Amino acid sequence: MPDEHGPCEQWREKRDAYVDGELDSADAAGLAAHIRVCARCANDVLERVQMKRSVQLAGKRFAPSAEFRNRISKNVAVRPARKSAWLSIVAVPALSVIILSAGVNLYARKQSEHRQLVYSELADLHVAALAGASPVDVVSSDRHTVKPWFQGRIPFTFNLPELQGSEFTLLGGRVTYLAQTPGAHLIYQLRKHEISVFIFQDRGEPTADLPAGTLHTLSFNAENWRQNGLRYFVLGEVGAADIKALSKLLRDAA
Ligand SMILES: [Zn+2]
Repeated sequence: MPDEHGPCEQWREKRDAYVDGELDSADAAGLAAHIRVCARCANDVLERVQMKRSVQLAGKRFAPSAEFRNRISKNVAVRPARKSAWLSIVAVPALSVIILSAGVNLYARKQSEHRQLVYSELADLHVAALAGASPVDVVSSDRHTVKPWFQGRIPFTFNLPELQGSEFTLLGGRVTYLAQTPGAHLIYQLRKHEISVFIFQDRGEPTADLPAGTLHTLSFNAENWRQNGLRYFVLGEVGAADIKALSKLLRDAA
């Protein structure tokens, strides 16, 4: 295998973040420049992109020929035979690789913009709920009261964790909307800080194709994941470790 060390090694761990639009612009530009000259890394990035159906997305913008698409999917299809996949992608003309990397860049930028949009809307909901006269519509620390309250108000059900022995307190919940999609907004308290938990159905807009993971901003930390057909967001002005701890309780209960 060529390039087991050197520039490829440097980018190895950053490929997923790149495809998810999570690299800073200097790293993204560096990796983009690298895959323009390195067929092997271009192939790896392509496989990741393919898995995220982003080639379709880029394809809509760049309208690659059917022949180009065939060749790309053939290269990806022979993934187990790594050597031959590598050799065959070398045969893809440099122009195709450049088109691909432009498509990946566009996809990464769109992903990043989309994510910022979703999170800024959720941060607004979080702040608005806490600023309101009654942050929650069902005021209860008992999950057995809060969960059934949502029945008939939102088009899905969910489970909530038992909090005994944890530092978190459930304050209650309210129905919320993200891009006209109804969901549950739960508010937990931790050492006088409020943490919002949002639960939506994980289909279509607005959460489709949103990468799961952690987000740190100056004002809050957040985590999102998909589970049992639902999309969870945990967000608050607390440390990342606290967000992770509450996320784990929710994950284990779901
Ligand atoms: Zn490389």
